Amino acid sequence: MARYLVLGGGIAGLSAALRLGMAGEDVILVDRMDRGGGATSRSAGVITVQLESEEEIRIAAKSIEILEELLGDGGRESTGLVSRGFLSIEDEEDSEETRELLRRAGVRFEQLNHVEASRRWPSLRFQEGEVVTHTWIDMGVEPGTLLEFLRERAVEVGVDVRRYEVLYLGLEKNHVEFVKTSGGELRADVIFLCMGPWNQRILSKAGVRIPVWVIKCPAHRFRVSVDAPAFADEVHQSYWRPGFDRTLVGGGYHAEPCGNPDECLGRPNPEFGKDAERLLRLRVKGEVELVDEWAGPCSIPPDFEPIVGRLEGFENLYIIDGLRGYGLMKGVALAQSLAEEVMGLNPSINLEPYSPSRFAALDLKA
Ligand SMILES: Cc1cc2nc3c(=O)[nH]c(=O)nc-3n(C[C@H](O)[C@H](O)[C@H](O)COP(=O)(O)OP(=O)(O)OC[C@H]3O[C@@H](n4cnc5c(N)ncnc54)[C@H](O)[C@@H]3O)c2cc1C
Repeated sequence: MARYLVLGGGIAGLSAALRLGMAGEDVILVDRMDRGGGATSRSAGVITVQLESEEEIRIAAKSIEILEELLGDGGRESTGLVSRGFLSIEDEEDSEETRELLRRAGVRFEQLNHVEASRRWPSLRFQEGEVVTHTWIDMGVEPGTLLEFLRERAVEVGVDVRRYEVLYLGLEKNHVEFVKTSGGELRADVIFLCMGPWNQRILSKAGVRIPVWVIKCPAHRFRVSVDAPAFADEVHQSYWRPGFDRTLVGGGYHAEPCGNPDECLGRPNPEFGKDAERLLRLRVKGEVELVDEWAGPCSIPPDFEPIVGRLEGFENLYIIDGLRGYGLMKGVALAQSLAEEVMGLNPSINLEPYSPSRFAALDLKA
C-alpha cells in the first residue's frame, strides 16, 4: 500500500506527483497512456502571466517559477521549452487595465505604441491606437515534450509510474478503499484525482457528480516565413506561440460543446482552421501555411474557477479539475500547492477559494 496514489499523468497529476516525490514521499502515478493522453498533450503550450486577475497572474508566475526550476539547465529541445516572453495586443483603453493589474501583481512589463512595436517586432502588423504589453518571464512549450521530460523527472525522484487504465473507485463509506485498474487493485492512504476532463466519468461511477462541463477546443500549427514572438491578439481574438521548425501554434478563441471527453479528441471543426488562418494573417507578415491541427477537451466549472481540494464526502480523495484553457499556466502551481497542503506544509498558493466544497449547496449525486 502506497502513501499517495495519483490518478492521471497530465500536467496536474505530474506536478502533484513530482512535488510529493521530491519531498521523499512514496507515490504511485497511473495513466492509461505513456505520454499523457489527455488535454495537456493537445494544448497549445502557451504559459503567460498576462491573465485577467491579480490572483491568476500570481498563480501563473508561480507555475513558471516551478517549471524553470524543474527544467534547470536542460537543453531546450529536451524540455519542450521553445520560447520566452509574451505580447498582448490591445486597444488603448484595455491596456490601462492590463498595466494596473501587472503593476499590482508585481510583474515586470513594458508597454509600446504601434510605431514602437512595429520597430521592435517587424514580423507583426500593428494598427494605430493599439498598445502592446510585453512581459519577459512567459514560456512557450511543446507540451508533449514537456510531459515526457516531467515524467522522466518524476521517475528520477522515485515516483512509481505505471501505465494502467483506471476503471473505478472502490468505496467503503466515506473512504476510497482501493482503485480498480487494468493492472489490478491499488491501495493508498491518499488519492489525487487528476484525470482532467475524465474525472467526471470515474466520479459518476462512484455516484458523485462534479459540476463541470466539457468543451472541445482546437489548436493549429502554421508554418510561417518570418520569426514571430508569442502573442495574444485581443483585438481580433487569437493567441500564438513559436514552435519547433519556424511554426506558430495557437488559434482563435474557438470552442464547441462536446460532453464526452473522448469525442473531443481528434480533428477540430475545419471552419476553425480557416478562421485561425485569417486571424493569423491579420497580424503576421509573410507566408503562412497550415501544417497540423488537433483538438482536445477542456473542463469548465460553473464559476470558471479551478476546483482543487478534498472532495466533500470522502476523507482521502482530493481532486484537481476545471483548469479550462489554463492548465499549463495554473495547473502546475495549484497541483503542487495541493500536494504541499496534503503533506501538512504551507502551500505556495492559498487553495481555499478553489475548494470543491463551494458547490456543497448543489445536488451532486450522479
Ligand atoms: C486545444 C487546447 C489548447 C490549449 N491550450 C492551452 C495553453 O496554451 N495553455 C494552457 O495553460 N492551457 C491550455 N489548454 C488547457 C490545458 O490543456 C488543460 O487545462 C490541462 O491540460 C488540464 O490538465 P489535466 O492534467 O487536468 O488534464 P489532462 O491533461 O487531460 O490529464 C488527464 C490524464 O488522465 C488520463 N486518463 C484519463 N482517463 C483515464 C483512465 N480511465 N485511466 C488512466 N488514465 C486516464 C489521460 O490519459 C490524461 O493523461 C488547452 C487545451 C486544449 C484542449
